[in-house]
Amino acid sequence: MEPEEARSILRHQKDERYGFGFALSPYRGCGHGCRYCYVREYPNALHKPDDWGGWVAPKLNAPELLWSQRHKLHRARVFMASATDPYQPLERQYRLSRRCLEVLLLCPTTEVIVHTRSPLVLQDLELLKAFGDRLSVGLSIPTDDDTVRQVVEPHAPAIPSRWAAAERLAAAGIAVTIGVAPLLAVHDAKAFARRARASGATNAWVGGLRLLKQDPFYKLLADHGWLKVLDPEYKEGIRAAFQEAFPARKRPREAKPKVEPSTVTDLPRQPGLFDRVG
Ligand code: SF4
Repeated sequence: MEPEEARSILRHQKDERYGFGFALSPYRGCGHGCRYCYVREYPNALHKPDDWGGWVAPKLNAPELLWSQRHKLHRARVFMASATDPYQPLERQYRLSRRCLEVLLLCPTTEVIVHTRSPLVLQDLELLKAFGDRLSVGLSIPTDDDTVRQVVEPHAPAIPSRWAAAERLAAAGIAVTIGVAPLLAVHDAKAFARRARASGATNAWVGGLRLLKQDPFYKLLADHGWLKVLDPEYKEGIRAAFQEAFPARKRPREAKPKVEPSTVTDLPRQPGLFDRVG
């Protein structure tokens, strides 16, 4: 897709259950092509729903638009990104996510959540560190089995590379959350959860898979014998393994750290976003 000029860059999220005030997507479309992705039914993707994963349009003016709207971000939390992955391969060339982060760095009361499947996030490691405790990075790792990933997220980075990214981010002092979302077929739940903990991540959450109406992904699950991922008991078993690996720590009542140490959550308050997006 040709680069384009966006008309807006901040999408206000009125529903407080999502846990952030604005979503920011520097690209339209997504090259990762996750087979379950619902974004292909978003209005801005409807002109090419069947080719989802095959096109990405950089929003060339995203940093400038963000700069012009920075007055909205006082004491706000920004989620990057809700309808794409901010670290598309094209980010190497366009650096739009980086330039948006540079704007956000200049908004001292703004908190930022970067959510990605890509180790490309490491190219901005120093910039991410500069945010201190007002930024966290979520890495989506929905399975411990890269052969599952190859079927379900065919163009997204391999699982081992995501673990490596989590480790480097955590070692750099950045708060890392592992998002097991949407939950896919898992080889060994306990080993998976221990691997997440060993990465240095301080949080983890498990989000269930939700299918669109007459979603072709249902057939894919059936063909591979993975329909169990739709079973609430299956999800509960994975969640229990993560709870064991990330035990909640008691903390003094008055202490309210921005990043809660070592917890695993199901994020029931955030069903739409965190169950389904990149
Ligand atoms: S789920 Fe996220 S990373 Fe995957 S294709 Fe959709 S937007 Fe991209």
